[in-house]
Amino acid sequence: MSEPNTRLIELLSAADRILVFTGAGISTGSGIADYRGPQGHWKTRDPVYFQDFMNGHEARVEYWDQKLETWPGIRDALPNPAHLAIAELENADKVLLVTTQNIDGLHEKAGTSRRRLVEVHGTNLKVECMSCHDLSEPDEHFEAFDRTREPPVCPTCNGWLKPATISFGQSLKDHDLTRAFTAAGDADLVLALGSSLTVQPAASIPLLAVERGTPYIIINRGVTDHDGLAGLTLRIDGDVVEELPPAVASAIGGH
Ligand SMILES: [Zn+2]
Repeated sequence: MSEPNTRLIELLSAADRILVFTGAGISTGSGIADYRGPQGHWKTRDPVYFQDFMNGHEARVEYWDQKLETWPGIRDALPNPAHLAIAELENADKVLLVTTQNIDGLHEKAGTSRRRLVEVHGTNLKVECMSCHDLSEPDEHFEAFDRTREPPVCPTCNGWLKPATISFGQSLKDHDLTRAFTAAGDADLVLALGSSLTVQPAASIPLLAVERGTPYIIINRGVTDHDGLAGLTLRIDGDVVEELPPAVASAIGGH
């Protein structure tokens, strides 16, 4: 393991309203495949579009079948030291909001509180009714689908149940985006981790803070869309799981 980055420690120590923004790169260390990568879900089965899910039985069966295939891996995945370091930053009262593009629920498993978390693309750890938006635990629905091959319906309103992720063709939730953009306006540091910062509108969340002159740190292995940005304060090309935890430990320890 490398020595923690001194500039990273300084910036984390000085901040007390950090907007943390995370992408797939933070979860590869937990065995979650980057769904855009070579082993990704997209390469093996065609995605089911939201309108098709809402309008057709066959699409709903295909969708639930795809989710059933990936559910055990998601249910059993554990947060890695980078997720835990972010939860430690919150415990040290330094986190304004964690905004993630990931749908693996690992920030919540690591201890990041719901009130400090926005999952802009939803989460696989809940099932949502598409009519009344009630949330429930996935296990019972997957067991029922596996047994009957019938897409589950809401016990309250009979609406279609769907894992609470944002599907292709489905709108992001206004409430989530508002929380994220509001935090971007109030943050005193932006920390983008494991994201190539290419997916919109999520990637424009850190930009709003940077336009206000907020210090901006990117840790990612490989290029990002924000490399070379005038407001970029610190760019670390490396694995978040190796770079972040020792720096957080030093920043909190010395605070
Ligand atoms: Zn319902």
